Parts: sequence; structure tokens; C-alpha cells
Amino acid sequence: MCGIVGYIGSGNVYDVLIKGLHRLEYRGYDSAGIALVDDKGKLSVFKAKGKVANLESYCEDKNTDSAVVGIAHTRWATHGEPSDHNAHPHYSEDGNLALVHNGTIENYQILKDALIQQGCTFQSETDTEVLVQLIEYIKVHNNCSLLDAVREALKEVVGAYAIAVVEKDKPDTIIAARKSSPLVIGIGDGEFLLASDATPIVEYTKDVVYLKDEEIAILQRGKPLQLVTLENEKAKIDVKTLQLSISQLEKGGYPHFMLKEIFEQPKTLLDCIRGRVVDGGKQVMLNGVLDNKEQFLKARRFVIVACGTSWHAALIGKYLLQDMCHIPVAVEYASEFRYSKPVIYDTDIVIAISQSGETADTLAAIKIAKGMGAFVYGVSNVVGSSIPRETDSGTYIHVGPEIGVASTKAFTGQVMVLTMLALSIAQLRGTMTPHQIEEIGKEILTIPDKVEGILKSLNEKVKQMSLIYTYARNFLYLGRGYSYPVALEGALKLKEISYVHAEGYPAAEMKHGPIALIDEEMPSVIIAPKDHLYDKIVNNVQQVKARGGSIIAVVTEGDDLISEIADHVLEVPKVSECLSPIITSIPLQLISYYIAINKGKNVDMPRNLAKSVTVE
Ligand code: GLU
Repeated sequence: MCGIVGYIGSGNVYDVLIKGLHRLEYRGYDSAGIALVDDKGKLSVFKAKGKVANLESYCEDKNTDSAVVGIAHTRWATHGEPSDHNAHPHYSEDGNLALVHNGTIENYQILKDALIQQGCTFQSETDTEVLVQLIEYIKVHNNCSLLDAVREALKEVVGAYAIAVVEKDKPDTIIAARKSSPLVIGIGDGEFLLASDATPIVEYTKDVVYLKDEEIAILQRGKPLQLVTLENEKAKIDVKTLQLSISQLEKGGYPHFMLKEIFEQPKTLLDCIRGRVVDGGKQVMLNGVLDNKEQFLKARRFVIVACGTSWHAALIGKYLLQDMCHIPVAVEYASEFRYSKPVIYDTDIVIAISQSGETADTLAAIKIAKGMGAFVYGVSNVVGSSIPRETDSGTYIHVGPEIGVASTKAFTGQVMVLTMLALSIAQLRGTMTPHQIEEIGKEILTIPDKVEGILKSLNEKVKQMSLIYTYARNFLYLGRGYSYPVALEGALKLKEISYVHAEGYPAAEMKHGPIALIDEEMPSVIIAPKDHLYDKIVNNVQQVKARGGSIIAVVTEGDDLISEIADHVLEVPKVSECLSPIITSIPLQLISYYIAINKGKNVDMPRNLAKSVTVE
């Protein structure tokens, strides 16, 4: 969601910034803009609604080559419609400053009214413009430096921000700051980069500093990086090395990132389990658990907080932890949890799941849970992101950068980590025997190959089958037990990228309402592996059939019964029930991908959606 890029160095500023914006496109946005300062103190701002390519066309006849410093932005509108004039960067009224911002300023109206009273005029409807005007106002009235004005202005602000500011007369400096929205600084050879995540930085340097909340960075040509707090105290600079490569950010011969990421899953699952399921499957070792044995031994309940796809993984986590650890589990939408007056005890372990590690609602939920004394465990993908830093402990899913907005490999990685988490806690608390652990551990080691087999056997079949269902306007996804969250995730995937209405439901609940919708125009996707609820779901399959609905069923290899009734069957290999979600979700990813492609949709960047949801 939204992207910030900044550059100061001897390279072509415009080229570096535009390339950086392209790298951030996957995060989702609706307009783009750039501010360039040349060495004669000329500050130019260019903006365009729509894609970064529109901005490039707009800039074609502009002088962009003489810039020596610049900042750029992709906006995901929260205040004011997506338009040229609401796009960032925003100028201050005297035209001396330009600022980009990710986040939301909650008290912007109060600040705006006060500035209007002082004679300020505004060019946009954004909350962001208030911030740049406030900085200018303080700078002029206090006759202070830009750094001091930024510090003072940020003390007035309630909300979330990552910002970068440039000043007309200071073509050697960028001031940047963050609170609750991500910002990473790259330290190159005689150059600095700045970005919302590391993807625009990696081709220039591997040395990065993740800015912390309420820290301000001063990037100055020819000087070392400086960090200060809002109180102007020096902050520690902790340089980390990026574990990211350029090839991970490219499509590698696939037409879309989403398809590449679906097909990467045999490898990403292997990376996820590497070094964690060891000794031929006898042991499951998560350092986050081993280093905090006491917390896990004394825990009386787990509360899992997450949003979107991660929330579906969390529901699977509930089944896993209940089955394997015999402990109560609550699953909450982070956005509801944070405003619900939650009851949390110091014997609770709160598990927070987020692919990006930056999800604003999940971060807020973490802070609340910590404040109430819970031990908080993070599950995320992006190394160095906010959630791993804010939590007491945790596990990375290690599936590599996920660029497609619709999550695929991160979902299976999250489910795999939750499976290993439940097993390692079961091992520690003695709720499973060593033999039972070994059985599942051994099977986990076979999952990457099984996923590979499914992709080989079903890709072409799903591609053909999708042609029949491309113009269906509604879908029902049904499952029971472990397959119920899989149904929810399958429906979400279809909605996200094909804009087709799809509802996920626990199959047994169908008769309490959704069954009224079933007719020959509404296909049902039924997830029906051979598990302890198999006979029950066969009933549900019959109920749909009896009402004339067509059925796509995901079944275990060799299932003759459902094959007789369903219109299409997609066979997956037999696995233990607790591992079935990873297996059964693969064909559902392919269904949504091919239906969206047949409809000509942009699967990697679906409308209105953002990859890293850094605003509330
Ligand atoms: N709230 C700001 C706006 O609507 C920034 C949104 C963003 O993060 O892109 O312009």
C-alpha cells in the first residue's frame, strides 16, 4: 500500500526513482508523483493519476536530467479521490518544500482549520498536504531548520506516517521520518536510498537501516547517515544486511507474478521447513518456541490476530493448536480486536500473522496485547519488518518476496509455520507422543513434492475447466473442519482477482441460508478430502446436486463416490488431515488465476487492493 522512494547520490535521480516506483507497484496504488531538486535550487513536482507509466509519459518532455536529489510516491488514496491534484508529492504554500507521505493523519481537520485561520490555502483534499503546510508554517514562524520544523510538526500529529521531505534551497538533503508506516534506508557507495520496503534498494546496496517509530533520518550528501528522535536525541544506527536478490523480484519467465508464486510453492515450502523439521521428521524445532519454553509451558490460551488471507491461515492454526496441543484458541480480526476491549491475560500467547509484517491493524493489536501482559509471537515473511521487531518472538515463513497482490505462497507458508508451531508446542507440552510427532514430521517432508505433483497434474486441467466457469457470476465455496478455512480462502482469492462474487461457507451451515442461492447458474467448489468428515460432506455434495447446482470437487486421489456426483473433480494426494489445507488450497489458487485471466483482469495488481495494508 503506497510506496515511497527517495534518492540522493551521483546516479540519474529520475531514473532511480522511477525504477523504484515500478518495484513498489505491487503494493497497490492509484496515482504517482515525483519531486526533483536540481543544484540551482529549482524544485519541480510532476504527478499523474493512474499507473507509473502515466507519470513517465507526462515527464517525457520535462527536464528531469539535472536533478541531484528527489523523492517519489505511489499513492493509495485515503483522504480525497485518486486524482492528479491529490497525488503526492505536495508542495508547501511558498513552494519551498515538497513532501510524500504514507499513512493517515487522524487530526488533520483540526490542524487544517488552524492553518486556514492563519491564512493558509490548500490545493488538495488530502490529509498529507496539512503536514507539509504545518512544517512550512513552523519553519517560517520559528525561523528554524527543516529538521527542527519536521520534529515539531510531527509532535502535533496524531496518526500514522512515513514521510520524506526535500527543500528547494538544500539540494543535498532529504529528511525522512516514520511512525507505524514502514521506511527503509539504503546506504550505498556515496549515495542514500529511501523506500517503503527494500525492493527498490536491493540493486544498489545490501546495507540497510530500518527506521523505528518516531525516528527522523537525515540523508545528506557526503555525510554519514544521522538519526534523531522527535526530541532531537541521537538514535542508534543499526545496519542490517539484506537477504534479497534481484532475481527474486522478477517474473522468471512466467506471464504473471501470481502464477510464478503458485509454481514456486514446492521450493518455498521447502525453504519454510528447512532446518525446522529435522532428524528425518523426528523433531520439529522452532527457535521462537525453544527460546521461550517457559512462556509456552505456562500458556493457557492462544489468541491469533490477523487480517485477510492471514486470518484464514489463523483459522487453520486454531484447528492445529486445538488438535495437537489441546489448548483453547481464539481467532480475531486484528481490526476488530483492537477496538473490542479485548480480555487478555498474562498467561495468553497472542500470535500475530501478517505477510508483510506491516499490516497496520495487526500492529495495533500487538501493541494492545503486549500492553495487557501477553507474550506476543509474530509470523511474517518480510525480514526486518515492523511485526518481527514489535513482537517478543516469532517465526519467519521464508517464502521470498510475494509480489502478486493475491497471496498464494505466503498463505501456504503461514499454514506450514502454524503446523510446525503446533507440533513444537505439542512436543514441549507432551500433548503428542514422539511417535505421533514423527509421523507428521515425516509427512511434512513429503509436502513440497506433493505440491509439485499437484501443479503438474492439475494445471492444464484447471486451465481448461476454467473456461466453462469464466462467466459464472456467483460461486459458493464449501468445506468442513480443516477444509472450511480453505473454502474461505478459495472464495477470497476468486473475489480479489476476478471480481466475481464468491462466498465461502462451512458446508454444514449451507442449509441455514446459502442453499437458497443454489441453481444451475451458481457453481459450488467443494473441498472434500478423505478425512473424518468425509461422509458428512458427501451429504452436502448431494444437497447441492439435488438443487441443480454444478459442482467442482477437490477430492483425495481414487475417490469414486464424489467423482460420480460432481461435474468436475480435482484429485490431490492423500495426506493426514492436519496437512490437507496446504494440499487442497493449490487447485483453488489455479481456479482463481485462470478465471481472472480468462476475464482479462490484471491478476498481479487487482483494482482497489494493496499488498501491504499499512493504513487502518
Ligand atoms: N493519506 C494520504 C492520502 O490520502 C496518503 C495515502 C497513502 O498512504 O498513499 O493522500
